[in-house]
Amino acid sequence: MELFRIKSFRDRLSPLIVGFMLSLATALFVYYTGGTTNVYTNLMYIPIALVSSIYGYKWGLVHATISGFLVGPFMPQNVLTGTTQSLPNWIIRVLTYAIIAFIIGLFADLAHKRELKISFMLSHDPDTGLKNYEALRSENMLSEQPITFISLSVTDYQEYLGFFGYDFFQRIVRVFSDKLTEVLKPFPNAEVYSYYGLEFAVKVIHEEDEPNTENILSAIYTLNERTISVMHVPVYIEFRIGIATLSPEEVPIDGVRRSLVALRDAVRSNTRLVRFTGEMEALFKSSVSIASGFRDALKKGNIRTAYQTIHDSGSGETVGIELLARWIRDDDTRIAPDVFVPVLEKTELIHDLTDFMFERALSLSVNPEYRGKYIGINFSASDFNEQTILSLVRKAKERGVNPERIHIEITERVLLSVANIRAHLDLLHNHGFVIVIDDFGTGYSSYGYVSDLPIDVIKIDRSLIMKANTPKGFGLVRSIVDFCGKFDMVTVAEGIENKDYADICDELGIDQQQGYFYSLPEILPIMPIP
Ligand code: C2E
Ligand code: CA
Ligand code: CA
Repeated sequence: MELFRIKSFRDRLSPLIVGFMLSLATALFVYYTGGTTNVYTNLMYIPIALVSSIYGYKWGLVHATISGFLVGPFMPQNVLTGTTQSLPNWIIRVLTYAIIAFIIGLFADLAHKRELKISFMLSHDPDTGLKNYEALRSENMLSEQPITFISLSVTDYQEYLGFFGYDFFQRIVRVFSDKLTEVLKPFPNAEVYSYYGLEFAVKVIHEEDEPNTENILSAIYTLNERTISVMHVPVYIEFRIGIATLSPEEVPIDGVRRSLVALRDAVRSNTRLVRFTGEMEALFKSSVSIASGFRDALKKGNIRTAYQTIHDSGSGETVGIELLARWIRDDDTRIAPDVFVPVLEKTELIHDLTDFMFERALSLSVNPEYRGKYIGINFSASDFNEQTILSLVRKAKERGVNPERIHIEITERVLLSVANIRAHLDLLHNHGFVIVIDDFGTGYSSYGYVSDLPIDVIKIDRSLIMKANTPKGFGLVRSIVDFCGKFDMVTVAEGIENKDYADICDELGIDQQQGYFYSLPEILPIMPIP
């Protein structure tokens, strides 16, 4: 309120007028009190202003009083003549000093308070009051003791948000964070931080003797797989933990990152606790270098296209090809697509790869060598958005390619993970593209679900084909072939490595086959992008 008033006063009056009026009044005062003999006592304002603006009004007042006394009763008015000062003279000076110190100090205090509030807001989570990631990040001083970071994430916590809404979710967060802080109270060397929502970190500074991390973990686990009461609603809490220990000379933020890498592993493998290992560090580093090096590799021509032929089961004739991405480094070493594709899929870079492969598919489909053969390319989950699909449709049209020549392969996993997949498949299908389910048999999609979607081809995964030489495996693949027959879907067997399997697949009535028995993936020469 005071601040507001001062501010509006400041906005309304020009500093020139205010300053001039104040100075004029002071000048008149000096004149009527006998002139400028006392001018050097004014120097005292400098230390007073400095002390008040740095230490606030309380210290400012103390300092002003001391200063007033220094040039007060012990100071003659004129050192040469030895005349003493009158009492009112130095008392008024002390008061003036005090008022000045108070005003400067008060403003300095207000500014300092505001600064503290802002820095508190930046370094704390507003809902739990706990320190946040930013606070962890700025604590970059090296520790004398080893530090363990425990990162914790409540499983599927976003679902609570979806089920109960934001307000109730915030209450869950508060109740859980209070409980976490409570169970860690007996451990003064453990501090709780909040990342976001139901994700927390616990920083444990090891004590001289025994690190008590195991006890701390046990305390945290008293909250796992338990029900907590939030506004009388029993909410089931289950969490995963990633843990990393840093030696003294390492930077704390690296420990946070490592515990998060371990946490990611715990969430992915559905394991209660994962400890950070050197292999994870290598994986992390390679993921970063893949993501940061991909565009450059694409520009330099290090991303190449390989193709593998697909054959008719009866005649053995080539009916189509599948394009597979290859990354060949300058030193001729390779990065396997199983390694780089999942990293690209976590970023927007996967669109660059899909675009590149799609361009190749279009070029090959107009190449006389591949006349009458279809070209298969692999799609990732994030390729399923209207914008990407429509741009592919447009590109095919521009190049005069019949979309029926392009087979779009998507894995069962993608089929199940993309929201509204039916609309996207319909869009592709209505524009004439052929939809292929890749790695069929490795996911959990049901026949009912698959038969309901516009799917033209099913590629039976190599893991199922390999079991087809046993009665049980044979029966399983037969049931897939029967199902596809009923819904007019073409079947392709993947991973045919020898004639025995080729014959079994023929016997099973599988339409087409792909694998090392027929051909190895072969790298295509670099083609200019039209
Ligand atoms: P996929 O789509 O299932 O591709 C077939 C994989 O099986 C290829 O591995 C191929 O080289 C391999 N293969 C072919 N015949 C045989 C065989 O007889 N035996 C065995 N054991 N393997 C065989 P590759 O090229 O290493 O690709 C691995 C995966 O990477 C692909 O699996 C696909 O999921 C992904 N991928 C490759 N290129 C791309 C791409 O351009 N985009 C996307 N999104 N994914 C790609
Ligand atoms: Ca494929
Ligand atoms: Ca496959």
